[in-house]
Amino acid sequence: MASNLLPKKPPPPTIKMKPAAEQTLVLIKPDGIERGLVGEIIGRFEKVGLQLIAAKLVNVSPDLAYRHYDAGEEWFQNVGKKVQQFYREHGLDKGEAFAKMEPREIGKLVQKWNVDYLTAGPVLAMVWRGPHAIGIVRKIVGPTYPDQAPPGTIRGDFAHESVLDANSQQRSVHNLIHASDSPASAKLEIELWFHRKEII
Ligand code: GDP
Repeated sequence: MASNLLPKKPPPPTIKMKPAAEQTLVLIKPDGIERGLVGEIIGRFEKVGLQLIAAKLVNVSPDLAYRHYDAGEEWFQNVGKKVQQFYREHGLDKGEAFAKMEPREIGKLVQKWNVDYLTAGPVLAMVWRGPHAIGIVRKIVGPTYPDQAPPGTIRGDFAHESVLDANSQQRSVHNLIHASDSPASAKLEIELWFHRKEII
């Protein structure tokens, strides 16, 4: 049979997989502002192609800080257990005060440490946008404890704080920056910090 008589094959479907753009909340905490790291931090997000769509300097009220660090029961339990165990392992719990507390109570104490940290000076609140923005920003920021954050990350390059310093002084780990950790928390946090009309 002549090839031109064969039924024509339909063309393969063209798959257009453009990842949906995400939005994420970033806060440069008071130590980041005080150390003059704003330009450096913004530059890192711009260089990977993320887009800044909202920004403002905020003197954070305790109410806003408490609501920001109200990450739910699971977070209170987990951070409480982590700090309790750290105190036991490092012999920091002289009067056994932490050993006698419920993990949730210790979690609430860490929330108070975080509120004190976030209200200690101005904070730069921003919304960044782009495909996979939430994960990419977390990768650039680095892990929670700066002494364990690899070089190349913001926390690894600009802070040397250890969890031992912070826990033994009963305060938050000073790690310069906050970034939303999931689509659900990004949505809640952006709504908490910004009015719709402030986002370009
Ligand atoms: P992040 O998302 O990396 O900021 O970490 P988390 O959401 O788990 O914790 C919120 C903040 O609580 C951190 O950025 C730290 O400032 C503080 N924090 C977390 N874990 C500890 C801890 O084990 N000890 C102390 N002192 N502070 C902590």
